[in-house]
Amino acid sequence: MAVVWLDDVRADDLDLVGGKGASLGELTGAGLPVPPGFVVTAGTYRAFIEDAGIDDELFAAVEVDHEDSEALQAAHETAHDLIMETPMPDDVREEILDAYRSVGEGDAFVAVRSSATAEDLPDASFAGQQETFLNVTEEDLLDRVKECWASLFSERAIYYRNRKGFPHDKVDIAVVVQQMVDAEKSGVMFTRHPSTGKKEIIIEAAWGLGEAVVSGTVSPDNYVISRETGEVETATIADKKTMCVRDEESGETVMRDVPNDRRHERVLTDDEVSRLLELGELVEDHYETPQDVEWAVYEGEVYMLQSRPITTIAEADDGEEDESDSGRSRAAATGDDVLIRGLGASPGIASGRARIVTKLDHLDQVAEGDIIVTEMTMPDMVPAMKRAAGIVTDEGGMTSHAAIVSRELGVPAVVGTGDGTKTLEDGEVVTIDGDKGTVREGEEPEEKQRQPVEEARPKTPVKPMTATEVKVNVSIPEAAERAAATGADGVGLLRIEHMVLTLGKTPERFIEQNGERAYVDEIVSGVREAAEEFYPRPVRVRTLDAPTDEFRQLEGGENEPREHNPMLGYRGIRRGLDNPSVFRLELQAFRRLFDMGYDNLEVMFPLVNDAEDVLRAKEHMREAGIDPEKREWGVMIETPAAALCIEELADAGIDFASFGTNDLTQYTLAVDRNNEHVADIYDELHPAVLKLIGDTVETCREVGVKTSICGQAGSKPKMVQFLVDKGVSSISANIDAVRDVQHEVKRVEQRLLLDSVR
Ligand code: PEP
Ligand code: MG
Repeated sequence: MAVVWLDDVRADDLDLVGGKGASLGELTGAGLPVPPGFVVTAGTYRAFIEDAGIDDELFAAVEVDHEDSEALQAAHETAHDLIMETPMPDDVREEILDAYRSVGEGDAFVAVRSSATAEDLPDASFAGQQETFLNVTEEDLLDRVKECWASLFSERAIYYRNRKGFPHDKVDIAVVVQQMVDAEKSGVMFTRHPSTGKKEIIIEAAWGLGEAVVSGTVSPDNYVISRETGEVETATIADKKTMCVRDEESGETVMRDVPNDRRHERVLTDDEVSRLLELGELVEDHYETPQDVEWAVYEGEVYMLQSRPITTIAEADDGEEDESDSGRSRAAATGDDVLIRGLGASPGIASGRARIVTKLDHLDQVAEGDIIVTEMTMPDMVPAMKRAAGIVTDEGGMTSHAAIVSRELGVPAVVGTGDGTKTLEDGEVVTIDGDKGTVREGEEPEEKQRQPVEEARPKTPVKPMTATEVKVNVSIPEAAERAAATGADGVGLLRIEHMVLTLGKTPERFIEQNGERAYVDEIVSGVREAAEEFYPRPVRVRTLDAPTDEFRQLEGGENEPREHNPMLGYRGIRRGLDNPSVFRLELQAFRRLFDMGYDNLEVMFPLVNDAEDVLRAKEHMREAGIDPEKREWGVMIETPAAALCIEELADAGIDFASFGTNDLTQYTLAVDRNNEHVADIYDELHPAVLKLIGDTVETCREVGVKTSICGQAGSKPKMVQFLVDKGVSSISANIDAVRDVQHEVKRVEQRLLLDSVR
């Protein structure tokens, strides 16, 4: 079956019909008013590219540096042409056309909407990344479906997936074909305030089809309705210059001027507001989470066109205690230096040079820390938005897609200023306040600028500022979020053993059964979770270091060598170098992550003994396409040999050395760390261990290599005191110890400062 009817679709059919299709099916099933239609399934797209044999070429074409605008454009063009020039199989064509003929009277105008399988997930809004076509008839239907498939590879979609770490070949696309609602008025509705989570319904409404509101080409009316009382708290009536309508002759969607007498007219009647409020409550109750809804009014009926979770509300904030208003009323900031006002669409305060941008081409001119000033918010701005300190637009509401994306990227934004592109001058230094919705003249002192990220973690206690970095160890990718919430300066050790051991098979067996690519994918996906959570804070990922006795438990473990003492045996870098078949795949996974834009990753090698180990590992890194000169990489100091050879290791080019005291202690004292009979003499603070560490730190400081600790002892106050005294660069502690270590480090640093002036 190439198509399924919306009536037969439910929320958990995500893989079949994508986020949008599943959501519409679920809404239909919940009895909400949704226009009828069907979905060309994701499997139909996948079969199309695979049966035609264009899949490999497609995915290879989009493996590009997403920060390189030209490469992005070339990748998009190649992918688009491949899809459009490949014919659709006859049986698929027939099935789609048959389904179309059953919609409405058989000659209906339909909306053709992309529905990617990774779209609209609760944790990452892919808002506006793929195509939608309105007013389509039989003649263009099949081409439009293919255009939707191709839009999976639009520049902004490639960029967004790379930035968010979604592998291209893991995303499929379904296409929703739905009867057009020839909207007299339409817009979007948030069932909670999209930034603060406050319990109020926010509706944006304009004349005509909803595209104008969603794409940000018109400043819509803005209504804020209390969910407690049902009262309209504020209704801000915008000057709605244009509207999106269907041209009666051609059937095309066109922009028209709004007749003068309707430009300032309020769009929604009280009855419509009440109906929307009712539907908003219903849909939020149904999903049990705040929703972002697209709606339309046609012949007096309110229809729901789409609903998805709001992804931007700070998790720990239920919004109740938020005092601020929303909508234009929030822009009532006073002060002589306010140049323009608009809607605070994404919180935070930032200063920078205004860059007036008129077209996508000009986005190249946006430098790191600039404030983009543009007529309307467009999702195509995403690559530049990431570089920008803030966004200002003339038009568009706080529910426009790009405003959603700016919130998700954490870039402060003020939208709907009316004439920002004319009032502000290119190159002028301004300060934007994404809470109040103002753009002020001049620069704000650094300490007054406030990043929205801080707001996203309101419950995080104030972090003590220390010169020595305090990082955190992560072994289970799912813990990355909690780890990041500690306010740690990065991940000092990301172990991949857990990711590999949970496969239930030795890497060799897993690869034998599933292929090399699957192994790489597993590592990419686990590491990405931490890399994403901490971005741009550094994450030091280590190649595999599990002793043979741990592998023995797994399927394929019977092939592991039998060892008298696995701790002294075939593990860490020595295994990687001896049999690089698995080791090189780990490096390939890291390389893929670098390619996806995770430039915060650092590579670390375990259990090295000497420069030869390091030079050989470095060569493998090069072979995997990781340039050791461009990336941060280093080694664990876990054997006395490594500590004693630190000068040679430094000469081999390492950027950092991290003490693995769990092993360093066992190898220095000849005490098996897993042997309870000798546990009482296992002492990480033994003078011999401390001597090795202290001397290594000293040498590293002389030769400019950073030092760290990522063994368990890094969470112990005595070790912290010793290391800070010696001048270690960073300490990586367990999640639960991070806050105490931060305080301990601060105490020692202050004592050192006092000592120096006494
Ligand atoms: C260490 O040896 O201190 C270390 C952090 O590595 P692992 O515990 O994984 O051997
Ligand atoms: Mg170790």
